[in-house]
Amino acid sequence: MAKRIPEPYKIKMVEPLRMISKEERAKKLEEAGYNPFSLKAEDVYIDLLTDSGTGAMSDRQWAALMMGDESYAGSRSFYKLEEVVRDITGYKFVIPTHQGRGAEQVIFPNIIKKQGDYVISNMHFDTTKAHVELAGGRAINVIDEKAFNTELYDDFKGDFDLVKLEETINEVKAENIAAIVMTVTCNSAGGQPVSMANMKSVSEIAKKYGIRVFIDAARYAENSYFIKEREEGYADKSIIEISREMYGLADGVMMSAKKDGLVNMGGFIGIKDDEDLFQAARSYCVAMEGFPTYGGLSGRDMEALAIGLMEALEYDYQNHRIGQIKYLGDRLREGGVPIQYPTGGHAVFVDCKKICPHIPFNQFPAQAVCNAVYLESGVRAVEIGSFLLGRDPDTGEDLESPLEFMRLTIPRRVYTDTHMDVVADAVIAVHKEASKLKGLTFDYEPKVLRHFTAKLKPIE
Ligand SMILES: *Cc1c(COP(=O)(O)O)cnc(C)c1O
Repeated sequence: MAKRIPEPYKIKMVEPLRMISKEERAKKLEEAGYNPFSLKAEDVYIDLLTDSGTGAMSDRQWAALMMGDESYAGSRSFYKLEEVVRDITGYKFVIPTHQGRGAEQVIFPNIIKKQGDYVISNMHFDTTKAHVELAGGRAINVIDEKAFNTELYDDFKGDFDLVKLEETINEVKAENIAAIVMTVTCNSAGGQPVSMANMKSVSEIAKKYGIRVFIDAARYAENSYFIKEREEGYADKSIIEISREMYGLADGVMMSAKKDGLVNMGGFIGIKDDEDLFQAARSYCVAMEGFPTYGGLSGRDMEALAIGLMEALEYDYQNHRIGQIKYLGDRLREGGVPIQYPTGGHAVFVDCKKICPHIPFNQFPAQAVCNAVYLESGVRAVEIGSFLLGRDPDTGEDLESPLEFMRLTIPRRVYTDTHMDVVADAVIAVHKEASKLKGLTFDYEPKVLRHFTAKLKPIE
């Protein structure tokens, strides 16, 4: 039986939820072009679109907002944040940014030295790939194939395929590689963790070829929790100790603090000791993000982030967080719903290729399931599959994603396990009637990033 873990906090402030009727939901969904991205948030009952910037701050974070120093240069709040990031990473240099992609747009143009240089990752997040390409680089993923077998249990499905990594380095030559990026947890593979052993090997390979390693650390604390729970030799280490060991394997970090920073907006860059890179990034930051002691953040944002970073490293917090995701995943499995197993750190990924074998990839089976779940319950999920993937830029053909997922992404400290039951009941009900679901076709398709604004209609 799925097990609940009690919340390690109590509730001090509440935000009412509104549930509109099924008839109204049908109308809203049609108006939104059968694309939940275009729904108004107030027409959503439980919003599982993303875990990014949707978390709840603690009373300590809210109190800290009042302590923000809004000085343009040399803000006290910056030095507080710098101290915390140095403590966690062991890195010398810290630059705040407005969010994760802010860090990406500052770093990549400064490490991609020539047109066509490569960046290799277990799996690039979509904005990370976009910033590699905008800087003239090319993004390659070398994730272990086990990530694509949703039924296969593995402790660390976010691992690099080390053989493929080294083959790729030999093929494209080390001097044409700008960096290796370790994405922890691996968002695009289902929030799956990367083991310390795997990261150590990646770091050794990188050293051997003289390649710089960066960590894409959006969910590093969740990754460290998984290492503590699952990897031999780490059970007695604290989450912060494990994190320090991981940062020691790399040369720098880009972080979206909207996830494990437990704030609604924020990010940063950390650089271990490369002073030239730090100076170059600092200058770039002024033009792109803001003066390097605020980088697009208010003083109060940096105060809240300094506290949030430490709260995310608390064992009880992570144990409940990861436990809640597992609870939802276990309830779905008990109800016969196929998911990426085991569940990862921030979401349950429902395998819609298995649920709707009658809907071809270019009629977007996972999008059809997302729409049905909204109709059933007012729960908003998001498609991670061929609709998101888009078209081949050269041929204009729809690309086929290896996986068609509905992602149920859980905001941090926001919903209770009773909300998870509502979600599970809705998905189980939709799964039972899935053979009746219809594929979708475009009414309007934008040229790029179509999943945000496209309008669809069911194929009758
Ligand atoms: C969210 C995310 C980013 C981008 O961060 P934003 O704060 O959304 O700009 C980069 N990498 C990963 C793995 C992410 O999950």
